Amino acid sequence: MHDALVTEQVIARHSCLNPIYCGDIMRIRLSYLFFAIFLIICPLRGVLAAQPDSCSAFVNVTVIPMDRQQVLSEQTVVVRGDRIADLGPAKETKVPSECRIIDGQHRYLIPGLVDSHVHLPLAGRSDQLLVLQMLLANGITTGINMEGSPEILALRNDIRDGKLFAPTLYTTGVFIQQPAFMTADQVRHEVIAEKRAGYDFIKVHGELTKDAYDTLFETARAEHIRVVGHVPSNLGIDAALGRQSLIVHAEEYLYSYFQFHRDLPKDPAEIDRMVREISEKTAKSGTWVSPTLYVFRQIIWQAADVNSLLQRPEMQYMPRHLTTGAAVGASNFAWYPPDNPYVKRWAPEKIPYLRDQFSIMQKLVAGLRDAGVPLLAGTDPFVPCVIPGFSLKNELRELHEAGLTPYEVLQSATSNAARFLGNSQDFGTVTKGKVADLVLLNANPLDNIDNISLQEGVMLRGHWFPEDELQKNLRTALKASKAQATATSTTGGLQKPASIKAPNAKP
Ligand SMILES: [Zn+2]
Repeated sequence: MHDALVTEQVIARHSCLNPIYCGDIMRIRLSYLFFAIFLIICPLRGVLAAQPDSCSAFVNVTVIPMDRQQVLSEQTVVVRGDRIADLGPAKETKVPSECRIIDGQHRYLIPGLVDSHVHLPLAGRSDQLLVLQMLLANGITTGINMEGSPEILALRNDIRDGKLFAPTLYTTGVFIQQPAFMTADQVRHEVIAEKRAGYDFIKVHGELTKDAYDTLFETARAEHIRVVGHVPSNLGIDAALGRQSLIVHAEEYLYSYFQFHRDLPKDPAEIDRMVREISEKTAKSGTWVSPTLYVFRQIIWQAADVNSLLQRPEMQYMPRHLTTGAAVGASNFAWYPPDNPYVKRWAPEKIPYLRDQFSIMQKLVAGLRDAGVPLLAGTDPFVPCVIPGFSLKNELRELHEAGLTPYEVLQSATSNAARFLGNSQDFGTVTKGKVADLVLLNANPLDNIDNISLQEGVMLRGHWFPEDELQKNLRTALKASKAQATATSTTGGLQKPASIKAPNAKP
């Protein structure tokens, strides 16, 4: 009885809550009139669905709460509306009769994952919705978008306001770097404008004059907005530590420290000493680090054999129009040869050098962990061959390979991220009162971090998506994105890409 009711509710909610379905509507009736109606109806449905009358319960489940290193077996987790209403031993925890039962036997419940470095297409709702669906399908319930645009800001707001049901988004503003930002004045105006517009963070991307970089922090402090991003490699790591809240690649330490005005160190003892020194300095400074090891590993693979990467099964979700770089405004981000920048830039004989760099990055990650620097799991999708959503599982494996325990790896994608976002009271752990962003797994990720891929379903703000539904929604989103691309290409083409420097593996 209850099951049928719940199913009906779920179907009703899907009509506009599911970003993909909204995308599909757009595909079928792509007219401005319909679009206007769609904009009016969607928010109403969103509000309806947010009513706290739904109830689900994970019964007999093993909970990995991530509030401390513990595993709670045979638990029942009751979700009401978008929050965890109750959690306790299955024998003692009452399941209200109206609750939808989700069988937790031999299954593991972890907090929804956070990818702390995503990129959404700068414009084009259906492409953005596809990427959001790719995140959700991979257990990601929150993403930090690392290059903003007015369209992404609107998307974040629609999700925040309940007009669109999709993973929670945070977003930086545009890339602050030369040549767009040459003077201190330009930087000051931009930081103030971004704060007023409502961006969550300021993003430094490339080189800046010392004056402009100092002004960036001065203004950001006055405006109460945090600065994240690359380290301007002309200024060195000391300029960033203690001022940037987050350094978004371990790779930044190569250019601004390990090979700053010098050659890459070769001697293992010297590397260890440098790792120790900079890790301790980073820990004292309070700056966080998101290593993004996988994107660099991928660059090495692309130099070696790009075709095998382009044939991975998850490539089926990357429509060709999203593999040119145009979607993220990077004309030099083509995935396919002959335009793939890494294939062009790195001849096979350079691979050992890239491997040496990568090995230093791995040692740095272990050193940062030893020194107590909080780490965040981030992936940098849309860099060629880094597939949104899917890449987080690769990054978790990389962090483990660099020396983090599975528990530490999970922290980087759950509780640490919530802490960084200043929102630990709302998410990041499986505890009573938290938002019900959850992933149900078929095996224990603390035994083997690869078990993170054995997903049974994902709960987003109390709404349960079993695995088959996630897959179905992904296919629908893909269709909508392709249809939109075809429609756009016959009516004037995509937005012209700006020319920006490839952010990773600088020559
Ligand atoms: Zn990035």
